[in-house]
Amino acid sequence: MSDSVRVRFAPSPTGIPHVGNIRTALFNWLFARHYKGSFILRIEDTDVTRKVEGAAEAIFDSLTWLGLDWDEGPGVGGDYGPYFQSQRLEIYQDIAKRLVEGGYVYFCYCSPQRLEEMRREQMKRKQPPGYDRRCRDLTEKERTEFEAQGITPVVRFRMPLEGQIKFQDLIRGEVVFEAATLDDFVLLKSDGYPTYHLANVVDDHLMRISHVLRADEWLSSTPRHIQLYGALGYVPPQFAHLPMILGSDRAKLSKRHGATSLMEYQKQGFLPEAVVNFLALLGWSLDDKTDIISREELVANFSIERVGKAGAIFNHEKLAWMNGMYIRKLSTEEMVQQVMPFLEVGLPKTVTRPISPDYFRQIVPLLQERVRVLGEISELADFFFVEELDYDAELLHKKGMDREGAIAALWVSRERLEACPFDAASLEGVLRPLAAELGLKTGALFGLLRVAVTGRTAAPPLFETMAALGKDRCLKRIEAALARLK
Ligand code: GLU
Repeated sequence: MSDSVRVRFAPSPTGIPHVGNIRTALFNWLFARHYKGSFILRIEDTDVTRKVEGAAEAIFDSLTWLGLDWDEGPGVGGDYGPYFQSQRLEIYQDIAKRLVEGGYVYFCYCSPQRLEEMRREQMKRKQPPGYDRRCRDLTEKERTEFEAQGITPVVRFRMPLEGQIKFQDLIRGEVVFEAATLDDFVLLKSDGYPTYHLANVVDDHLMRISHVLRADEWLSSTPRHIQLYGALGYVPPQFAHLPMILGSDRAKLSKRHGATSLMEYQKQGFLPEAVVNFLALLGWSLDDKTDIISREELVANFSIERVGKAGAIFNHEKLAWMNGMYIRKLSTEEMVQQVMPFLEVGLPKTVTRPISPDYFRQIVPLLQERVRVLGEISELADFFFVEELDYDAELLHKKGMDREGAIAALWVSRERLEACPFDAASLEGVLRPLAAELGLKTGALFGLLRVAVTGRTAAPPLFETMAALGKDRCLKRIEAALARLK
């Protein structure tokens, strides 16, 4: 299959890319890389009314962030460009002319108002929506009359009125549509711009696309495309319609299920490798148990045969878990690099900037196990940085210790710690026996100290945390705790 595989990602720049779009891009990319074929990026920007400023750039950024490089397309060029459809209008117009000459299309003069009325009527009568073919068989005279009124027509494709349109889908097997359910769709709009259907088919042919892997919302476009390929004498590519992505309630994934924009994930602190792994499993699987799969393994193993038909559930919890797994694989240096920008933004304003990477380096091992999304880091780690802790004094003598007991224990601890070298082993060597000496459970003393030095009841392991904080900070914080209690 190798040199014959040419696949494309063909987004319309009508908004910021969401996980569904990018899952499609990823599957195409994996397919291309697996077969050592080509991955082409084509921007389908012929719908002027829906075009959004900056959307194409957001697509480039998302793909680049995930490492989904394209072999042909904007920025890299290629033999089949231009790769923006808005720069190919003449090609579509020429081909539309050919279709006119061949009698495959007709001019439709129906006004938007008339079409709107027709739609309303259809709804009222509970008929399926679709163009009622009023202009399909106009006489020469009727046409001349419309032209004389100065109406610019649209060009519609003459679909068969009966019979079945069938095609083989690589995921769904044979797909059959009744021709009667498909209307005569528009190919060229009155502004001379092609519709998606025309531009998409023409470009997939001219760009020698071998396989079309796209979301299953396009399934009902495919029988239309098949007819159009036939009319143009083109051999259609192979089709694979990817399963829908669902939210946890099994409804189609949408904004109300939480973040769906890809750059939002970047902002929150998801790692591209984790997102690639996660998106690959939205509809594809290696086997029925493996979750963590590297990019290389994905490329080596990706196949359409293992793409399922059933909707894939987007589970935010699983994504966060997976991200945590990838965070754990980072080296300390990588972790520092990744996290510093999040700390700069997320730590309270009172913390002096710039944050010292050297200090943070000591803390990394304590946090790496616990953080799932990098954006959570400031909340997990702020006590390492702030000057003064903010917590409720009651936390200091909550469990099995009264105020006096807590004061006594903190006081002695402070004294012993002052003389203690500040590495985790020495700290443990001093504090464990101290608990026994004070007649306290180790948990009670350690819990008390944890609150005093971190301001919270749950934090990374105590001795390591104290070692990272350093003697000065710890002693000051114990003094502050004593002050709070008194
Ligand atoms: N421009 C279409 C989209 O926005 C492309 C669909 C297809 O892949 O054919 O998704």
